[in-house]
Amino acid sequence: MSRRKTPEEAAWLAERYPGTPNRELLEGFRAEFGWAPTLFGLCSWASDRGLRKDRGQIDWAGHPEYVGFMRSFVPGHTEREIADAFEREFGIRLSDSKIGNFKARFGVRSGTAGGRFERGHVPTNKGKTWDEMGIPEEKRERMRATQFKPGNLPWTTRAVGEERVTRDGYIEVHVALHRSERANDQWVMKHRLVWEEANGRALRPGEMVVFADGDKRNLDPGNLVAMTMAEHAIIVRSGIAYADRETCETAIRIARVKMAASRAGKRPRRCASCGEVFEPRYARQRRCDRCLGR
Ligand SMILES: [Zn+2]
Repeated sequence: MSRRKTPEEAAWLAERYPGTPNRELLEGFRAEFGWAPTLFGLCSWASDRGLRKDRGQIDWAGHPEYVGFMRSFVPGHTEREIADAFEREFGIRLSDSKIGNFKARFGVRSGTAGGRFERGHVPTNKGKTWDEMGIPEEKRERMRATQFKPGNLPWTTRAVGEERVTRDGYIEVHVALHRSERANDQWVMKHRLVWEEANGRALRPGEMVVFADGDKRNLDPGNLVAMTMAEHAIIVRSGIAYADRETCETAIRIARVKMAASRAGKRPRRCASCGEVFEPRYARQRRCDRCLGR
């Protein structure tokens, strides 16, 4: 049976096609819309649109622990945070499309937009005292030491007082931004502000700040280390561990070595067969694509 899909039906299918087995996809479609295309119809529709199946699909149905983890972790987290946490937990790196597919299939939402919390998102700790949050005394000492005082102007921003803790444990501070009238009421990550103040410069685009000891409440400037997101991705993906400032800085150096080696592996070279210079697609490629018959 062939039938024209409505835009809603097409969007529903396109979102799930890459990560859902076809049989399950067609069953879900029938349950949702009361009819379903044939398997053949589905495949030719997908290929017309250039849709492909994700390689190495995640078997959500066969792993309730994956689903349980995602259900509890996805709300309030960005795709990067979700991929990092899932990898730490199960040793599998989820692509953005797999995460998007999970959300669509299981009806779970991040509640974030472009990595920032959506307007109206109220963290569970908002307005709570340190007592209510159960923060131990030794951490309070450090928090007091790094809390903003009136008249204390950080590098790019001015704190206007209130602090809150996001669902994933980061302290945010309410700031008024200099030189910007339309954005003078924002919450920013406090550890970024502390880093900027301690280092006397603004963070560059693509730079992030990590907690060397892994404790998101330890805002001691000595515990805050800046790195690029690319370096961070390699550290996480390669499972390079760090536990303090020194090991964290070593982890960054290892990531830089890996990046340099990977760049070197992709340098143009002479084909071992025809002698022409070509740009390899992978590090050990000895022959050009033409000689490889591709
Ligand atoms: Zn060649």
